[in-house]
Amino acid sequence: MVGVGDFGRAVIGEAREAGIDVAVVPDGLGDDALVAVVASRPVPAVARELDRAAQPLVPVWGMHGALQVGPVITAGAPCFECYEARLRQHAVDLEAHDAVLAHWATVAPPPPTEALRVQAPLAATALKRILEEPEAFGGCVWRYEGATPSEGRVIARNRCPCRRGRR
Ligand SMILES: [Zn+2]
Repeated sequence: MVGVGDFGRAVIGEAREAGIDVAVVPDGLGDDALVAVVASRPVPAVARELDRAAQPLVPVWGMHGALQVGPVITAGAPCFECYEARLRQHAVDLEAHDAVLAHWATVAPPPPTEALRVQAPLAATALKRILEEPEAFGGCVWRYEGATPSEGRVIARNRCPCRRGRR
């Protein structure tokens, strides 16, 4: 796991308590390891970097006060840049979307909101399920407003190499 800030540490602690065998980067990981990028707000630069290095990953981060788990990025699944492009494509207000992401890119991760803190155990439970069969969840994204998440799946862009299983 890559934990950024207080929320990152909280989820790593919960995951250990849930019995997940946690290695904290950079303890040394292989290609078959799934890296959870945990933070109280999106850290797309970290996810992008891991994806470019062909490291399977799953973001676990706060998104507008809600917990987001995913997209699960494994070999053969849509890449992180496809996720970012789809997110942007579906933005209701593109200018606000870009402004928020630009802001998050420059600030230190804020302490988690109370809502996010309460959701840390949900993040650990979701990770445990994903780790049982990561490939089966490739491209899946879950957004938790409460205890039950809404689920989505990233569709690769037409001309992206990941569409043919290459990155
Ligand atoms: Zn792609």
